[in-house]
Amino acid sequence: MRAVVYNGPRDVAVQDVPDAKIEKPTDVLVRITSTNICGSDLHMYEGRTDFPRGGVFGHENLGQVVEVGNGVDRVKVGDWVAIPFNIGCGFCKNCERGLSAFCLTTADRSVVPNMAGAAYGFADMGPYRGGQADLLRVPYGDYNCLKLPPDVEERQNDYVMLADIFPTGWHATELAGLRPGESVVIYGAGPVGLMAAHSAMIKGACMVMVVDRHPDRLRLAGSIGALPIDDSKGSPVDQVMDLTNGIGADRGCECVGFQAHDPEGHEHPNMTMNNLVKSVKFTGGIGVVGVYVPQDPAPQDQLYKQGEIVFDHGLFWFKGQHIGTGQCNVKAYNRQLRDLISTGRAKPSFIVSHELPLDEAPNAYQHFDARDDGWTKVVLKTAA
Ligand code: NAD
Ligand code: ZN
Repeated sequence: MRAVVYNGPRDVAVQDVPDAKIEKPTDVLVRITSTNICGSDLHMYEGRTDFPRGGVFGHENLGQVVEVGNGVDRVKVGDWVAIPFNIGCGFCKNCERGLSAFCLTTADRSVVPNMAGAAYGFADMGPYRGGQADLLRVPYGDYNCLKLPPDVEERQNDYVMLADIFPTGWHATELAGLRPGESVVIYGAGPVGLMAAHSAMIKGACMVMVVDRHPDRLRLAGSIGALPIDDSKGSPVDQVMDLTNGIGADRGCECVGFQAHDPEGHEHPNMTMNNLVKSVKFTGGIGVVGVYVPQDPAPQDQLYKQGEIVFDHGLFWFKGQHIGTGQCNVKAYNRQLRDLISTGRAKPSFIVSHELPLDEAPNAYQHFDARDDGWTKVVLKTAA
């Protein structure tokens, strides 16, 4: 089968690799039809994680089931499924509590002895190959496959967002504690930040502010009724304060991650965290879904080599705020979000800028990584 293989920093290629296959009775084999490039892939693509050379990328996957192991009950050949980027077992202590991003069964203990959580094609998240490929092996298929309704074939670009970024944006607002009628400031207008904004609008936020500096991304935020804040034109904290009568937003979402930078491109891994503490009100909540890693092999800020940042803990404590962090437990939300899509209440495909054949992945990675104007979200298609 073809797959997008990582050969080193900023070097991916579509190569032939051995076919994915059923390895355990609980596996499901999916022929992938739509698979996205994610901002998380870019941290790995840039060589800022310990993702192994020769590994296959791809954790935002949708396709049709072509084979099931003989221990699979619910999922049938022919089903169309969206596959959460997390690989859970469904029966461990964490999965049972809805924390499928922290599965204790599928985690790779060679990373750290008490490791929790696994994902496809992801640094430190186990040996599982990604789905930017013709085929994907889905462990514990009954648990991990979300069945999709009959309109899936025409609406793949909406449903494929259920694998990761729509639930992740939703999760950011949940971690922040957003309730109807509250205001929220979102740092980052990439796909995840835009999905957080979409989620906040659906949840009935009174005001959704989105901070970034890319005009195309800010325009998309404006297109769904959010207030775009351009931080290249002045302090985002001041702009949020002006919009909230000097009080600050009720809630804040971090949708950038450790490669946060200033508009000139210099990285400051603490930048969005400290801006959030400043622009969220006293007692407000902050949800952090942007990725932070315990080690950065090529840090721009030496402290971050070990994952540390200079955090404004004093002001954070003084304001009585709280923070929630981590990978999204996709299973906790994906059914409800699927139903919001199928009834037309949600339309996450509004961010898709490019639908390209899998073979064009190297070019697509280059443009999306450069955040080139108009490259907001790429969906790779495996069909010719
Ligand atoms: P992206 O890189 O396309 O978007 C990030 C955006 O942040 C860019 O538009 C960039 O201009 C902006 N930005 C950079 N520095 C900024 C700053 N200081 N202030 C405001 N905006 C700034 O990526 P994405 O696909 O939207 O993903 C965003 C983050 O979410 C990444 O770290 C990704 O790894 C992470 N992620 C986490 C989960 C999870 O489960 N927690 C899931 C998916 C993605
Ligand atoms: Zn992703």
